Amino acid sequence: MLLPLVLLHTGDKAHGAELKTNYATIIYSNEELLEKFNQEIVLNRQLRLMLRNQKIFTVQDEVKSKVDLVVEKVESVLEMFPDILQFKMKVMATSDEVQQVYLAKYGRQVDHIAYYSLKEKTIYISTDDANLRVMAHEIGHTVVDHYYKNPTPSKIHEVLAQFAEKYVTEDDL
Ligand SMILES: [Zn+2]
Repeated sequence: MLLPLVLLHTGDKAHGAELKTNYATIIYSNEELLEKFNQEIVLNRQLRLMLRNQKIFTVQDEVKSKVDLVVEKVESVLEMFPDILQFKMKVMATSDEVQQVYLAKYGRQVDHIAYYSLKEKTIYISTDDANLRVMAHEIGHTVVDHYYKNPTPSKIHEVLAQFAEKYVTEDDL
């Protein structure tokens, strides 16, 4: 009776799906959302060339490759190569959803289109607002978080994430 289990596992859209990359577990609610997310993440020239060398057959493959390429680019921009880098990325539909999660967890109304939770090692990102800059910024926070053994002051965290965002999206560095 293996077959029904397999079907349940892949066809159960209500519970969403997960993609494992070298660094991330990407969690999303349905394939249409992932497809839209993939379209929003437009790589710059250098990263696009690197993407061409990867084996990509599906939207899932492309999203996985993009996330890992951005992780490695952020690491080299920041010159921070954490021994262990494992995080979750929750792909949400809208900034409203991101803000609802934030409100539920921290009891505070914010206007974030994405954020990184230090405690959960999780990036929450709105597909409506997603682009390379936003993703590089949040991955910047992730890399900084994994690099330092001690908690990094929030101002420094932000400066480093902004630095990653700026230089990941520039072609010639
Ligand atoms: Zn930030």
